[in-house]
Amino acid sequence: MSLSPKALEAAHLIDRLDRLARAGEQEGRLNPVQWEALRYLARANRFSRKPAALADYLVSTRGTVSRTLASLEGKGYVARKPDARDRRSVDFALTRKGSKTLTRDPLLVLARNIEQATGGDATGLLDELRQTLRNAIARNQGRAFGACHTCRHFRAHVRRLTRTPHHCSLLDEPLSEADSRAICAEQEPTPA
Ligand code: SF4
Repeated sequence: MSLSPKALEAAHLIDRLDRLARAGEQEGRLNPVQWEALRYLARANRFSRKPAALADYLVSTRGTVSRTLASLEGKGYVARKPDARDRRSVDFALTRKGSKTLTRDPLLVLARNIEQATGGDATGLLDELRQTLRNAIARNQGRAFGACHTCRHFRAHVRRLTRTPHHCSLLDEPLSEADSRAICAEQEPTPA
């Protein structure tokens, strides 16, 4: 099947944008993988802040991710604690320093550029990028890591007037509004 020149140009543009965003990551005390780990921990729900999930998300090895998290922990950006559901496993979370650092994330510059280019409404671009990502994940047989509220196990508003109005039918856990927007290692997209 022949490749459309515009599709190829779009791929070059995405590659160039990625490089420009990463150039900003070279400044300061964190390397690109450490930035990606901080971003992931800021976006992931409480079931997904584990080294194995982060390795899957980054398409990296568990050894590399363990070293990245150990380095971030040593510098005070993240902290570990036993998993509440499985005491043999550990979870990581951002510390105050880690959260503060993300307010200076070089990726925010790219987000501002997108906001300018789309006039503040990136809905169409988002839909196309999501579909592109779905195709890439399907080809690599990777996990989706989509937002919780788009998961087929998400049950909305099962308990009204509480802080945890939603529910996960897979893990049998209550979910808050903030949880519903977080990404999850177990997420399975709702069939179209
Ligand atoms: S509903 Fe889906 S995405 Fe949300 S916590 Fe459950 S498995 Fe994860």
